[in-house]
Amino acid sequence: MKLFDNTETAFKLKSDSELERAYFLFKMIQSQPMVRIGTAVTNFALKAHLPVEGLIRATVFDHFCGGVTEDDCLPNIEKMYEIGNVHSILDYSVEGKEDEAQFDDALRMTLKTIDFAAEKKAIPFAVFKPTGFGRFAIYQKITEGEDLTANEKVEWEKIVERFHKVCRAAAEKNVPLLVDAEESWMQDAADDLVEELMETYNKEKAIIFNTLQMYRHDRMDYLRGLHQRAHQKGFHIGMKVVRGAYMEKERARAEEKGYESPICANKKATDDNYNEAITYMMEHKNMAIFAGTHNEDSSYLLMDLAEKHNIEANDRRMWFGQLYGMSDHISFNLAKEGYNVAKYVPFGPVRDVMPYLIRRAEENTSVAGQTSRELNLLKVEKARRKL
Ligand SMILES: Cc1cc2nc3c(=O)[nH]c(=O)nc-3n(C[C@H](O)[C@H](O)[C@H](O)COP(=O)(O)OP(=O)(O)OC[C@H]3O[C@@H](n4cnc5c(N)ncnc54)[C@H](O)[C@@H]3O)c2cc1C
Repeated sequence: MKLFDNTETAFKLKSDSELERAYFLFKMIQSQPMVRIGTAVTNFALKAHLPVEGLIRATVFDHFCGGVTEDDCLPNIEKMYEIGNVHSILDYSVEGKEDEAQFDDALRMTLKTIDFAAEKKAIPFAVFKPTGFGRFAIYQKITEGEDLTANEKVEWEKIVERFHKVCRAAAEKNVPLLVDAEESWMQDAADDLVEELMETYNKEKAIIFNTLQMYRHDRMDYLRGLHQRAHQKGFHIGMKVVRGAYMEKERARAEEKGYESPICANKKATDDNYNEAITYMMEHKNMAIFAGTHNEDSSYLLMDLAEKHNIEANDRRMWFGQLYGMSDHISFNLAKEGYNVAKYVPFGPVRDVMPYLIRRAEENTSVAGQTSRELNLLKVEKARRKL
């Protein structure tokens, strides 16, 4: 039996009824029409202030989120850590907000999660999203080389200040901080800013981590360029490596506006690109890697690379990450073997985490292989428990 096929370890934390609920949920989101209709009805119901939050909570929310507040998440976080040796990363998943008060809220919340991480062994990282700290349009203008108005310049300065505040706190408290990646047409502005911060705070080790989305065909060149600059300037690179969550949106925009799509031509090209990035990072010194993936082959590859380069399973420069509610067979089996594993645990008010939940539902629908894999494993475990 291969490591990730062990369903007893994978679902150790799940009661029989939780197992049944997960099975039912993945069965539902396996159907594309169901997800389309479900998304449309839910969005309508929330806008019309219909009382659907209870239903959302009982289904997708409780499966993919840790709770409404960070405190709600703690019992699950402790349980995953105590029983499964799986760590957690509190992910404030409120998205699509556009005013300064909400950006300050996200800043406060990120600082709070840095404090949590400093106190709790179960929480090894903090995380934030660039557009949580400022308007998407500002990042986009900078990325596209447009001039900012006087007011926009002030907004940008505030964004930069927010980034500096969280990075300073992370460095002072020795809590590594992950910065998520988003749409390609805003990403350069965030990348440049994060690079500056890596240069400041990653002199001795990686504290600030950016994110590489390997579904973008330009990311290997970006990584090599960054590596060269890091070498010249003497800083460590921290990188979360993912495939990328905005593929359909990226392709649609490129087609609509008539530019070459930034996305790899097909799934195999993305997979090769991903594996090349993790291989490159493991071959070079002064890099810390956080492999955010549910792909079994890439996870096995990273284990092989660690062995090849004599890197211990629990070396703090190498982490595996999965999202809460997905791929427990990878997380719990890796953790049992002594690897560093962390789940992103999203939290926030039900209606504010809807964009995140919709992305998860769509991801589990579009990647047919992944859903059927989850379903298969759940089925095997149900049979093993004779349910
Ligand atoms: C801990 C963690 C952190 C994350 N952080 C981010 C983040 O900051 N930013 C972000 O964008 N995403 C992020 N993600 C989401 C991540 O991008 C998706 O979960 C991921 O794309 C799913 O891919 P996978 O590696 O699990 O592998 P698989 O399930 O094997 O791959 C699916 C992915 O392959 C790519 N793909 C599918 N079909 C094609 C095709 N026809 N052509 C080209 N490429 C294709 C897409 O990216 C798709 O999502 C994160 C995920 C995790 C686990």
